[in-house]
Amino acid sequence: MQSTISSLGSSEAKYRALFETNLIGIALSDLDNSIIDANDAFLDLVGYTQDDLANGKLTWSAISPQAYDALDDKKVKELLRRGTITPFEKAYLHKDGHLVPVLVGAETVQENPPLGVSFALDISHRKKMEQRKDDFIGTVSHELKSPLAVLKIYADLLRAAMHDGDQDEVLRNLDEIDNQVHKLNILIGDLTNLTRIQMDKGDVGRNLFNLADAVAAVVKDAKLTYQREILLKNSRKWYVTRGNREQLELVFRNLIANAVRYSADGTRVTVRVRSEQNHAVVSVEDRGIGIPPEEREAIFERYYRADHAASFSTEGMGIGLYVCKEILANHKGQIVVESSVGKGSRFSCFVPLVPERRARRIKHKGSGARDS
Ligand code: ADP
Repeated sequence: MQSTISSLGSSEAKYRALFETNLIGIALSDLDNSIIDANDAFLDLVGYTQDDLANGKLTWSAISPQAYDALDDKKVKELLRRGTITPFEKAYLHKDGHLVPVLVGAETVQENPPLGVSFALDISHRKKMEQRKDDFIGTVSHELKSPLAVLKIYADLLRAAMHDGDQDEVLRNLDEIDNQVHKLNILIGDLTNLTRIQMDKGDVGRNLFNLADAVAAVVKDAKLTYQREILLKNSRKWYVTRGNREQLELVFRNLIANAVRYSADGTRVTVRVRSEQNHAVVSVEDRGIGIPPEEREAIFERYYRADHAASFSTEGMGIGLYVCKEILANHKGQIVVESSVGKGSRFSCFVPLVPERRARRIKHKGSGARDS
């Protein structure tokens, strides 16, 4: 690169700095088929080596799928005419055969003979997220439609039961209607939480509270909501933490809901509160389907639903754990998972404990003090 770029005179410093940062892929070419030079970021993107480059194996035709020929021609013409192009999206063909979505820009650095610099940014992640978001919208409409359709059926049955004067049937149908409304409420609540977390921008406030109280309140509700043994084990009385109690309760509610959803009826869910090196640790453990190692990171991403779990429970939108992770990060804590497929999972939330000197204030005053 150095020799080629040296001949570019004043452009040298500008391009070399950019070239060597390897933040984006950069390739120098003669605007025909040859790639004269490329930085490591560009080579990584398309799976080629410096040797391939030196041996002339890395050419535009090798990495550009034919489907883009017309677009590429148009862009080269634009480049020759204007000296630059409007960045556009396309895909490169990786050496191993897969397509890499990229955002491409280019500039001419020399007119005679023409020499151009191309910039390529890997946009696979963005594309994957766009796809997931589309799937998510599909899932959300499906999730909202199903209880609505069932609601309609029970409303019709209710009308018929009232007509027949069958009081028991009327009550049964009203219960079902209640169930479906409850389901819809939870779904809409999840969506509202997602929006709220994204808008909060990390501000969780400075309230001091006893995390053990928050966990106990959530477990008490969960015992009423689910027909399941939910055991609470608490190793001491006070775990004073700072932040937004409501949001942390939402984390524990989500984790218990998942523990119930991804395990068989009749199995136990255990919630534990303990401390570890200046952190309160709240863990939710189930004896359910477990999570394969390769999914353990992705489940915390937005809109992600593991395949094996989707077949076990058709409900779910893939946002619960993302919301949990964000809330804990905003509290300077974190969430981790241990799991064994077919045996169960344990999600543990780490929340920083406030120093004892400050904690004493709320122990005297009772829960809900404000730290100044
Ligand atoms: P969902 O609404 O799909 O449950 P979450 O974000 O809460 O969304 O969870 C993401 C994925 O993580 C789930 O689709 C499931 O694959 C997996 N998962 C979450 N909790 C558990 C659990 N306790 N046991 C097994 N798999 C789980």
